[in-house]
Amino acid sequence: MIEGKLGIIWTLDRICKWQCNYCCVDAFGVKIQDRNLQITSNRFNHTEKQPKSRQSQDIFRRANQILQDQGLALTLTEKMKILDNLQGANIEIGFSGGDPLLVQDNFQVIRRASDLFGRSNIGLTVTGIGIKLGKVENYLEHIAQLEFTYDSPVDDDENHQQPGYNRTNLEGFGSIVDACKKEQVVTQALIPISNTNKDPNTVDLLYSTLRQSRVDKVYLMRTFPVGRGSHSQTDILQADDYRRVIQQYKQLQIQTSGPEVNVMCALRALYPDTDPDPCTFLRSTIDLTSTGDLIADAFAYGPTGEPLLPELVFGNLRKDKFADLISQDRLHRLADRIGENPGHCKVFAYLSNRSAGIDGFFTRTDPLYMDQS
Ligand code: SF4
Repeated sequence: MIEGKLGIIWTLDRICKWQCNYCCVDAFGVKIQDRNLQITSNRFNHTEKQPKSRQSQDIFRRANQILQDQGLALTLTEKMKILDNLQGANIEIGFSGGDPLLVQDNFQVIRRASDLFGRSNIGLTVTGIGIKLGKVENYLEHIAQLEFTYDSPVDDDENHQQPGYNRTNLEGFGSIVDACKKEQVVTQALIPISNTNKDPNTVDLLYSTLRQSRVDKVYLMRTFPVGRGSHSQTDILQADDYRRVIQQYKQLQIQTSGPEVNVMCALRALYPDTDPDPCTFLRSTIDLTSTGDLIADAFAYGPTGEPLLPELVFGNLRKDKFADLISQDRLHRLADRIGENPGHCKVFAYLSNRSAGIDGFFTRTDPLYMDQS
């Protein structure tokens, strides 16, 4: 049952400097190679000669134009139309990507969203490259929270990201932390827990680095085998591993009064006493794709960034009013089923039981919680 404020994760754009192996949305990696502009994802590849005169910040502008021409990215007018169609809704929006800072027009979108829904209801997830190129300081008065990923203290964690990803994220954050404090923007580091960052020394190092960097919060996540990471099984951890890692972060917070430790919905049923059914699927969260589709969950993406199942798509906000989409019977029929597998992450339940189709989302098949069923 949907009630109260709804949190929307809006993948505003899928342009990115990086091509992380486990990118949830199969973002479009943009780079210059041998004087060619290259755009690469599982779904789309494009190469074109790079004019000598093009500056580095113009690379992303040109890539965005190409993606818009292919119908793979929205124009500013279309994004503004989506905001019109959201007007009046009781929502908070977490803008993510890709990196929304790499598309200049997005400043107007986020400022408008802040005007419509209130600054306290706006968050933004970025990378260090976006911070460097995207004039993030202009955004701060319009957002309440800024997030970035920092999940490896070494710079060559090629299992997940390209070399430099974590380092530049942290450097970018370091360059604006004072401005965030001044504007009272809460900062949060996202840490997908994985086989490469679960050992105690790495946890110590990650947490102390973020504490010294004056991050306000850390957000501990499962690594989802969705999007570009759909075929990866390397980071399917056991419940005991997650419990130990989460416990260590919580201990570090107590011992050092460092960043507040928060745990994502898909891990919270490890502690059934505190919250027996923390899954927010169609109860308090929903997702908006980079082409305007309203879909059920922020992690319900297939290998090329498409929704996992057509039944999860409730319409497109370029043409439909949010109030109409959200009141559809078929959406409420799905929302009413979430109690069939309490505690289980609906996405992991489906991924382990694909042959059941949409019913797979509501079976007790999330591997992390099978022994609790
Ligand atoms: S389906 Fe999984 S990721 Fe989505 S809200 Fe539920 S627990 Fe969280």
